[in-house]
Amino acid sequence: MDKVKHSKIIILGSGPAGYTAAIYAARANLDPFLITGTNKGGQLMNTNEIENWPGDYNKISGSELMNRMYKHAIELKTKVICDTVISVNFKKKPFFLIGENNKYTADSVIIATGANPRYLGLQSESLFKGKGVSTCAVCDGFFYKNKEVAVVGGGNTAIEETLYLSNFVKKVHLIHRGINFRAEKILLDRLEKKIKSQKIIIYLNSIVKNILGNSSGVTALLIEQKNSKEKTESKIQVSGLFVAIGYTPNTNIFVNKLKMKDGYIQVTRQEHGNYTQTSIPGIFAAGDVIDHVYRQAITSSASGCMAALDSERYINSLV
Ligand code: FAD
Ligand code: NAP
Repeated sequence: MDKVKHSKIIILGSGPAGYTAAIYAARANLDPFLITGTNKGGQLMNTNEIENWPGDYNKISGSELMNRMYKHAIELKTKVICDTVISVNFKKKPFFLIGENNKYTADSVIIATGANPRYLGLQSESLFKGKGVSTCAVCDGFFYKNKEVAVVGGGNTAIEETLYLSNFVKKVHLIHRGINFRAEKILLDRLEKKIKSQKIIIYLNSIVKNILGNSSGVTALLIEQKNSKEKTESKIQVSGLFVAIGYTPNTNIFVNKLKMKDGYIQVTRQEHGNYTQTSIPGIFAAGDVIDHVYRQAITSSASGCMAALDSERYINSLV
């Protein structure tokens, strides 16, 4: 481990919130450090088509967009560091952070650590992780060309993954525990069209009870379907299961250090600025890590911008 590295401002996370915060902090001459975490580029690295990033009307892949944000941040002299913070001490001034590779101190910190995919919690799911169970169709879908797969979930991610997979797999079985999808209308319209082609089969009011397989991977799913009177079980033969049931904020290292609600970091949201301040002055948070409602690239970027402006004001108040 090198000696402790100091910056006026350290940003944790390399998703839209982190890079946007870095761009604003760098333009304010704060010479920010941005620590990428293990998932450089964040959640969008797992998506192949973004249609709602303003200005990019021709669609853009997640990795392309995130690479552009990265280049923008380093062009403005952000120091991008490949490390993951494993522990923090926010009682000390300057704030103290321990990464896997280095130790850091900072006058102000912006937490933009985003969220990670949720799993169903079945024992068989852990058994087949990487052997048929995946949370990323864009990353792993290719392995299932001309095979049958299932997707579980009912939000935007589940519908997008289903549509994406249906372009090259034999059949997608979409399993949702409710009767109404919570995805956007435009995605549901596309789903409707694809259902007609019989490449997608929908199971509503249904849950995955068990994942079956052998040493080479997943072979089938046991599904339980509830109707008004009874529960019925059925088996579907699939080679893969894509779990798309939402995300959990990456806040483990902040437990008992910052005020949180349902795992999300709480920010003050004050009427006259300082919207992104956490329970400790000087520590700000932005993006999905503070937001269980909107969770979009644009809203994450927007709060990254606010966090940088709030942090700049805080740093200026120290002199
Ligand atoms: P994230 O993108 O989650 O990034 C978090 C960052 O924090 C990562 O770089 C990670 O490595 C880092 N990190 C975590 N822990 C640590 C640590 N301890 N130390 C240092 N770094 C750490 N939104 C849209 O607007 N349009 C879309 O089309 C769209 N498509 C999507 C498709 C999929 C499959 C998914 C999953 C999401 C999609 N979203 C989309 C939502 C969007 O990706 C998120 O809202 C956005 O990425 C959140 O940005 P963020 O910067 O807050 O966090
Ligand atoms: P989400 O909106 O939270 O939806 C999660 C889905 O999984 C819900 O349908 C939920 O069912 C279901 N679910 C949750 N826990 C489950 C469990 N244990 N077993 C079975 N099903 C379960 O998550 P998301 O779809 O990943 O989206 C996350 C955020 O990213 C959203 O804000 C979304 O808008 C955004 N996003 C945007 C785009 C886009 O703009 N194109 C694309 C992808 C994601 P219930 O409905 O019954 O609760």
